[in-house]
Amino acid sequence: MIIPKDSESSDGLIDLLQASSASFRKIRLYDRDVIFADHSANIDPGHMGVTVSEGLVSRKFKPDSTRVRLRDLSIGPDRLIIAAGPCAVESDEQISTIAAELKKSGADILRGGAFKPRTSPYSFQGLGIQGLRLLKKASDETGLPVVSEILDPSQFPNFQDSVDMLQIGSRNSQNFSLLKFAGTVRKPVLLKNGMGNSINEWLGSAEYILSGGNPDVIMCYRGIRSFEGVTRFTMDSGAIVSLGRMTHLPVCADPSHPAGRRELVEPLALAAVAAGATMLEVEVHNDPDAALSDAEQQITFDQFRSLNRNARDLFQLLHPAAATVF
Ligand code: PEP
Ligand code: MN
Repeated sequence: MIIPKDSESSDGLIDLLQASSASFRKIRLYDRDVIFADHSANIDPGHMGVTVSEGLVSRKFKPDSTRVRLRDLSIGPDRLIIAAGPCAVESDEQISTIAAELKKSGADILRGGAFKPRTSPYSFQGLGIQGLRLLKKASDETGLPVVSEILDPSQFPNFQDSVDMLQIGSRNSQNFSLLKFAGTVRKPVLLKNGMGNSINEWLGSAEYILSGGNPDVIMCYRGIRSFEGVTRFTMDSGAIVSLGRMTHLPVCADPSHPAGRRELVEPLALAAVAAGATMLEVEVHNDPDAALSDAEQQITFDQFRSLNRNARDLFQLLHPAAATVF
């Protein structure tokens, strides 16, 4: 990776590379040129190195916090963004009811899985393409942008017109062909951490997407697998704090999957905001006990109203200069 200092030196480097037999490509990222040349390129561009801590995701490359636009939302340091919705889209009535309630309660984004990556092949796999259609309908009814998990690049044509943001889940966080594909699309990506990955490995995953030319990545921390069993996964607040110092990308937290139980979701959401998350993704269901996936951790409408109010109050307290209009 070569990061020329300005466009003049970029032109000079391209001349050099063209004169050599090396293959290379140039992308424009955050208003800067970045050139990737293969290892046969024998030039000394004073490049920044290729470790992730110095890569495109790093604050060394871009010191200021990135804002990801999603329709008229700006996801970044300015205000708390809350994505909420069921683990899985289950029916027209279910997603329409939830979307309408969430819109009323002040959520910013509607989430819902259509293609579910389940541990067992016999568990509910999601409604697939029909689920994406229902999400789009709920989005049209409420005006909320939608995020949904993509499992494979072959599904993208179905996501293209129905989903505003792609989610790459924990189980696919190191699926490098999916990450490379996500680098080529013109949609923001909500990238979860792999439950068995370190922060640096996760940043490497984000680097794949940025190096493909897609600047719009949000890091969504969902906890890791540990020896601890009192919560479903371990939500390390130190990971959230560190991430915000290492990368300019927006830091989101998902308190639902680490909680595993609905009474723990709001306290974990508040802990994540205190640790520096500027976005939350929360699972909410109209009838959580009857949910077809993750029933124990999906919160009720009442619980969401409380979480929404308290998380926004806490964010305001911690970031008094942030916008007050929700
Ligand atoms: C989800 O958001 O429904 C999900 C499957 O999350 P994760 O990939 O973090 O397990
Ligand atoms: Mn879930």
